[in-house]
Amino acid sequence: MRISKLIPKTRRQAAEGLSGAHALLVRAGYIRQVERGLFVLAPLGFRVWRKLQDIIFAEMERDGVLNVNLPIIQPKELWDKTGRWDRYQASKTMLTTRNPNTGREFGLAPTAEEVVTWLAALEVQSYQDLPVIFHQIGWKFRAETRPHGGLLRGVEFDMSDAYSFDVDEAGMRKSFELFRTLYTRIFSRVGLRRCIAVQADSGAIGGKGSAEFMAISEEVGEDVLITCAACNYGANLERATSRYPRPEYSVPKVGRRGEHTPGTRTVVELEGLFKAEGITADRMVKTIVLTVTKGAETYNVAVCIRGDLEINLVKVRNALGADEVAAAEAETVREVTGAEVGFAGPLGLVEHGQVRDILFDQSTQGMTNFLCGLNETDYHALDVNFGSDELPVPTSFHDLHQTKAGHQCPECEAKLTESHGIEVGHIFMLQTGYAQKMGAQFRDAGGKMQDIWMGCYGIGVTRLLQTVVEQSRDKDGIIWPESIAPYQVIIVPVNAADTVQMNAAKALYRNFQENGVQVMLDDRDLRGGQKFADADLLGIPLRITVGRKASEGVVEFRRRSDGTVEEVPTSEAHMHYLGLLAK
Ligand code: ATP
Ligand code: MG
Repeated sequence: MRISKLIPKTRRQAAEGLSGAHALLVRAGYIRQVERGLFVLAPLGFRVWRKLQDIIFAEMERDGVLNVNLPIIQPKELWDKTGRWDRYQASKTMLTTRNPNTGREFGLAPTAEEVVTWLAALEVQSYQDLPVIFHQIGWKFRAETRPHGGLLRGVEFDMSDAYSFDVDEAGMRKSFELFRTLYTRIFSRVGLRRCIAVQADSGAIGGKGSAEFMAISEEVGEDVLITCAACNYGANLERATSRYPRPEYSVPKVGRRGEHTPGTRTVVELEGLFKAEGITADRMVKTIVLTVTKGAETYNVAVCIRGDLEINLVKVRNALGADEVAAAEAETVREVTGAEVGFAGPLGLVEHGQVRDILFDQSTQGMTNFLCGLNETDYHALDVNFGSDELPVPTSFHDLHQTKAGHQCPECEAKLTESHGIEVGHIFMLQTGYAQKMGAQFRDAGGKMQDIWMGCYGIGVTRLLQTVVEQSRDKDGIIWPESIAPYQVIIVPVNAADTVQMNAAKALYRNFQENGVQVMLDDRDLRGGQKFADADLLGIPLRITVGRKASEGVVEFRRRSDGTVEEVPTSEAHMHYLGLLAK
């Protein structure tokens, strides 16, 4: 590739507001944005993208995965079978299209469980056909409410998606573990520097048990990760759990009190008011009113949690099997409690008739003589205990709290820490839900029909491209890992007007090409400094500088990753390069 022929050209500045890897990919000309969430992969970006795909396909084939290509335009009828057409319509995340001749509706694949399960239902006959795993790399479409961060969150993005089919739960778990190691291999081969697998929430895909592969990035990582330095525990904040200190609670007193607490609404304010009595946040129960959406239904519930902890809405959503859960509007809180915001409490709340249920967090189990709201403006209750008429002992306690750095690991009790990650891959155990709904069965050894056990697995390929750059760059530009660099070598003649240098550079370029090396030649009539800056920006692993010493038959090798420089006889350049690769 001669750089003079390459379009787009590099830019000194990225557009306003871009930063990090996104800005570098734009400046170096790897991508162009048509609009938020829609991109052109320019020639250099295209090469990196294809290399990522090659690595993924190769690793899949190593494990006997079958490659297929599934349609992007998927009939509504298939999505109706799993009930996901309505769910995606409700969340407004699926792009749809209509055949203008027949009027039939189609969804643009946000993912492909329906189509692939249809395929399995059609093709899998007996237990002898299983296990089988189908994999494709294909474009996905999601009407993200806020596409941003360049390739990190697109409306259109490339995904490697695989689906496993097994005879039983043990088989499904085996396939799941196969993908855990397969993904680990892929992420290491493409050159991610820091990537960990954490426990995750399963979201809209459903199923039980999933893990996310997170590339650590404090700068742009959107997911909060909770990890333990002492053991292997790691989880997305959405589903992380923890232990936390419990104070010694005293013997329950008989009879609660009502206390006038004018204008005192928050835990901090209450701590101030009751300082003398030593009522700290961990001796209070907070009550939060939430509005729940489940299918076509909307209703209110309350969650009670210890005063020093926060609730995790994803856990509440899962506990209720709801589609969405959000803090109730102030108006609703007033209706539900009969008091201003800040005075809600569990006493008699359900009987009041406006909340369907109260969910108690595990932190409230065993608390005695606690403080809580009295559902009366400017009043709180003290010395409250479970087991009275107005507050019976809850039939169950749930894990609904938000884990924080500093809490203790649920497995080994060491201190947990918080970091940020970019989700590059997600693996799920789907159980038999999809198979049941779509009639995907197999005949077992005894001749009986049984549902197939499934798993599904996804890597955001275009997201991964930018994530590698996020972890592999410096102030001057991109530093591509060897495995996915668009070109391995860039040859830079310092002075284009110097025929000795130009001829030596061209000869080297031909020589490298003939030996199958992916090589660029910077044949532009620019100052040496400008060409060096571009070579750094582009991130090509090895720069060969052809300068004044070309006349003595010497060129300079400079490694992008660490800036090390060495002089090499021109005639030995290719051999020397092979030696570097072998190291
Ligand atoms: P996120 O939480 O980031 O929205 P997700 O949980 O919706 O991701 P999955 O449905 O598990 O994502 O999709 C599999 C993979 O596809 C993700 O791990 C991610 O790498 C990638 N991906 C998901 N949404 C996008 C997007 N809008 N743009 C680019 N890649 C995406
Ligand atoms: Mg998403």
